[in-house]
Amino acid sequence: MSKVNVKKNDQVLVTTGKDRGAKGRVLRVLASDGKAVVERVNMIKKHTKPNPQKQSQGGILEREAPIQISNLKVICPECGKPSRLGRRRLEDGRGVRVCKSCDATFS
Ligand SMILES: [Zn+2]
Repeated sequence: MSKVNVKKNDQVLVTTGKDRGAKGRVLRVLASDGKAVVERVNMIKKHTKPNPQKQSQGGILEREAPIQISNLKVICPECGKPSRLGRRRLEDGRGVRVCKSCDATFS
């Protein structure tokens, strides 16, 4: 399995599928599944039952479903381009990500 280069709070671009071209913020990374949940991307409707104890009325709830990370590109915070990312290890041992478009490094 390839290394997951997407992190929570990254801005990403969807490159394939029904939400192709959509941009959003990563809410959650499911590394073991190779998937991520992206704000307002891959929305699904979920029917919920009324639950008086939680004071919820039930109905149709919209929420994000996980999307394959291979369908995402991280938008570089430096150059603003959807970029391929590499990894680099700093002298102090910290691993950082490197934008292959502008060569900026970020965590
Ligand atoms: Zn960049």
